[in-house]
Amino acid sequence: MMAVPFVQDWDLVQTLGEGAYGEVRLLVNRKTEEAVAVKVVDTSRAADCPENIKKEVCINKMLNHEGIVRFYGHRREGSIQYLFLEYCSGGELFDRIEPDIGMPEADAQKFFQQLLAGVEYLHSLGITHRDIKPENLLLDDRDNLKISDFGLATVFRHHGRERKLAKVCGTLPYVAPELLSCKEFRAEPVDIWACGIVLTAMLAGELPWDQPGESYQEYSDWMQKKTYLSPWKKIDAAPLSLLAKILMHNPEKRFTVPQIKSDRWFSKVFRRGVKRALALASDSVGSLSKQTRSDMDLSPIRNGRSSDEQVRFSTSQPDPVTGSSSWEHSSPNFDSMVQQISFSQPACPDHMLLGSQLLGTPGSSQNPWQRLVKRMTRFFTKVDANLSYTSLIEVCQKMGFMWKKSCTNQVTVTTTDRRNTKLIFKVHLLEMDERILLDFRLSKGDGLEFKRIFLKIRRELSDIISNQKVSLPVI
Ligand code: ATP
Repeated sequence: MMAVPFVQDWDLVQTLGEGAYGEVRLLVNRKTEEAVAVKVVDTSRAADCPENIKKEVCINKMLNHEGIVRFYGHRREGSIQYLFLEYCSGGELFDRIEPDIGMPEADAQKFFQQLLAGVEYLHSLGITHRDIKPENLLLDDRDNLKISDFGLATVFRHHGRERKLAKVCGTLPYVAPELLSCKEFRAEPVDIWACGIVLTAMLAGELPWDQPGESYQEYSDWMQKKTYLSPWKKIDAAPLSLLAKILMHNPEKRFTVPQIKSDRWFSKVFRRGVKRALALASDSVGSLSKQTRSDMDLSPIRNGRSSDEQVRFSTSQPDPVTGSSSWEHSSPNFDSMVQQISFSQPACPDHMLLGSQLLGTPGSSQNPWQRLVKRMTRFFTKVDANLSYTSLIEVCQKMGFMWKKSCTNQVTVTTTDRRNTKLIFKVHLLEMDERILLDFRLSKGDGLEFKRIFLKIRRELSDIISNQKVSLPVI
């Protein structure tokens, strides 16, 4: 397990997500209640990792846009790199996509507009993201979309001179066809293509193909304009006509950002229902204010010190003399963090794990750092911890999933999805107000497939799921 420093006055609250070489964790300032996400990367895990992370930091430093996750600074301690980022409490975009259904067209349009604004900004700087997909699109507390994860990003235009790219990277269902069939290709149309796949996923709740190869039936059907087939038949004529221009096989004919912006559907004004307007109004209350929410919106987050997670605290102290640690920052709010980073070590780190007490600890009301992460992949049960646990395991067995108890209150489940791709997710069992919350988080694999499987498990467990919506105070 990755070492995470204990930063004075900043509580390590919970793991937000996992990536190939590390984890993203939430830190909250005990005094100011400021929240930041810290991406912890162990650069010794792969030979090219130190170079890659350097590039990720370098690109992040160039960025400053509301559509992009803000970068506050970074720090290095030996082989571990810490990237401090704006915390996006709204979770990942894929979580808002209902499998096989999608989301309301107005929401999809808003997210798409925001995505395109972010991409336009990146391209204006000569940067291409190269891995645009709903798992890398995060939402803030007001549901504004932020492009995240610049691990694969690169510069394609420098001093006005564009270079073609040759490296094949990204995620297959989102990559453009020329990336698989041409030795060299232009960067911008590839990102635009991925935006088109994201829009399809938002409007239809499914990805159109495994990869855009002519030997793939679904792709050749699309090229033959068989829009009476799924997912296209679920999409309204106006957005479908835009998609036809974006998912254009020939990158030279593919719509550019300005062309997309002048599309009729792109700027269509949707009339938002009263219900939705009300929901938005209540949603716009900052995540730090005292408020109540329904259980679907609640995430209990434990103080790092009472966390069940296998947090290990780094024992290495930053060494300003030898420069083995580097620290840079760009946000005034982080001055305190920079100065106070003492990485003070707990006397007995193991006591901080308190794993064994997890299911016995009283409700979240005692936890000062309870915060919200909007995640739909969770539910409360109406039975005790043990029965919740055994029921979950039974369902996993019944569904043929591999499972393993990864810590006292966490189960890691491994399976393959419909596309035969590996899917790993974690289920946390947390006690909140004397009820057990089962919180599912994707570790590896496709977000939509993960949601599909989550819904199946939820159906299987319907007998023990609590329908009662209890509003709980936050912070
Ligand atoms: P990958 O292997 O997919 O490239 P990675 O190591 O680059 O992953 P990220 O994709 O940056 O890691 O982050 C992994 C997950 O952590 C995200 O999918 C998201 O759920 C969560 N996450 C990342 N950054 C933030 C943030 N700023 N705020 C909230 N959650 C975040």
